[in-house]
Amino acid sequence: MSAVVDRFQCLQCASPDAHSKYQRVPDRFHGFPGEFTYVTCAQCGLVQHEHVPPNLGAFYTGYRVHTGDSLLYRVLRRLTIGHCYLGAQGEGKALLDIGCGNGFYLKQMAGKGWQPTGYEFDPEYAATLSQQIELPVIAGEQTLAEHEGRFDLVTFNFSFEHLDRPVQFLELAARALRPGGQIYIAVPNIESREAAVFGSRWFHLDPPRHVSFFTKAHLRAQLERLGFTDVKVKNLAIPTGFAGSISYRLWNRFQGATWYAGIIPGLLFSLFVRDGNFAISARRRA
Ligand SMILES: [Zn+2]
Repeated sequence: MSAVVDRFQCLQCASPDAHSKYQRVPDRFHGFPGEFTYVTCAQCGLVQHEHVPPNLGAFYTGYRVHTGDSLLYRVLRRLTIGHCYLGAQGEGKALLDIGCGNGFYLKQMAGKGWQPTGYEFDPEYAATLSQQIELPVIAGEQTLAEHEGRFDLVTFNFSFEHLDRPVQFLELAARALRPGGQIYIAVPNIESREAAVFGSRWFHLDPPRHVSFFTKAHLRAQLERLGFTDVKVKNLAIPTGFAGSISYRLWNRFQGATWYAGIIPGLLFSLFVRDGNFAISARRRA
């Protein structure tokens, strides 16, 4: 019965009750057809899709994060969000980057002495990427489950907000860590002033690809529930949120020239306001 299938159920606490947050927002980044409504769970406060689109994978066709390979894009990406990624020396330790995009972080960490493995959701994409970057990229929850206790570090670099089963996936990621291993999650901050200023035209809303927006308190609680200790949170200054949001305000869509022009003002905005994104890290109990 479609009425049952369509009923809201919170991705974090399974509550059936929610309040409207942003109604019928289009995909301004890629312009795929459709309108997407975000709600706030009445029980736990998680902002999320009212209904997660069943064909979510289709909205990644030509995804800029996977294909954006021009020199200018790479340089800008490195300058703007490079500092958000954990950059410690590896000394042969094993890293798993979940939602590894075009593998830029894996390559960077390999250069710092890590043994990196990527995780992607589409097995075909994972295989192609693995060949391209000559590093292992795995796919499938079953495969991930087989890597229990193997990694010293598991990272979600702006991928956690894309998950349609975030709580279950966090548990899988936790099990992939060895005791004492570290988890690092960088996500957009729905509680930010940046998000409040731009509302449904906030660049990091990115419907329909961004499925849910765990807050600092949500992630802290989830990590503590899974037995993590030493939880640390820091805000991240990223100019792309402001630059993209200006483009959405002016043109109602992503417009490359406006985005590039907005990077410098965005840098100033993100340095002064510095709350559009945050990272949380924690250690699995030894
Ligand atoms: Zn909830």
